[in-house]
Amino acid sequence: LFMAEAGELDAPYVITWEGSVMDETLSGDGYWMGLGEDPETGRQITSLEWLDRLAPGAAAVIAIGTCATWGGIPAAKGNPTNAMGVMDHLGKDYRSAFGVPVVNVPGCSPIGDNYLETAAAVLLFLNGLAPLPEFDELGRPAWLFGETVHRHCPRAGYYEEGVFAEAYGDKECLVELGCWGPVVQCNIGERGIVDGHGGCMQMGGICIGCTMPGFPDKFSPFFEAPPGSMVSSTTSRVVGSFIRRMREVSKSDKNMSARWEDDAPSGWARSRTGPRGAVKIVHRFYSKYQHSKESYN
Ligand code: SF4
Ligand code: SF4
Repeated sequence: LFMAEAGELDAPYVITWEGSVMDETLSGDGYWMGLGEDPETGRQITSLEWLDRLAPGAAAVIAIGTCATWGGIPAAKGNPTNAMGVMDHLGKDYRSAFGVPVVNVPGCSPIGDNYLETAAAVLLFLNGLAPLPEFDELGRPAWLFGETVHRHCPRAGYYEEGVFAEAYGDKECLVELGCWGPVVQCNIGERGIVDGHGGCMQMGGICIGCTMPGFPDKFSPFFEAPPGSMVSSTTSRVVGSFIRRMREVSKSDKNMSARWEDDAPSGWARSRTGPRGAVKIVHRFYSKYQHSKESYN
């Protein structure tokens, strides 16, 4: 750190900051967070002092985790340490020595691959090997945080068909148990948490919005249905239940091969496989319409 500050490293340096920035003027006789001592006086050097000393000369500053990006749980209501994110502390006019504003990779805990991928992209840029990748208005890697977690959730199909879990352990959409996924920017649905595996909804948990600047206050109380979900889940229930029934009808027809007339010759069947009665008639029309534009010329 001393060498970096003195310009004695042979290469540019990048700061990766984890944890919220706490106001050291409130720490009394002690300190909130420290790193090393002044070699001449023995004075404890706070981490915040290092940030202030090193940030102007850094090639980039990357905040990792929701505490470092937006303040996180230490900055929740009450906030005795006046905790805040790195971007709040350095201010909107901050630019690194290479002209880059603070890069933010949120998450509580953050997905490791998100950090590595972002750091690699920034390093490629700093070495002149690639253009600066796209970041959003809050400095998040746009390609990682551009979508809501809901759009890639393995349970999204249940939401669309209006089927909701009533208890943890159920396989359906968790919105009525308190999931905020439809309004939360996070890529855990497609990325998983470790090496492509796991993730909140994959493991049966709700989304509590841990990547968002409003976390935790704006997502509490946890484990209660978000008020806005009443409108969307009721709409899904009404529209989805109709769509689901239509799909059941279609599915029963698609489970019949072209050579089966009335039913499958399966010894496994506990009930008939194909459509019957009025459903069968509906399907005749459906099938006629489906193939009406086919041409075998
Ligand atoms: S569990 Fe959450 S993220 Fe997944 S579909 Fe339901 S509301 Fe969306
Ligand atoms: S799904 Fe929600 S709770 Fe889970 S990591 Fe993403 S933002 Fe956090």
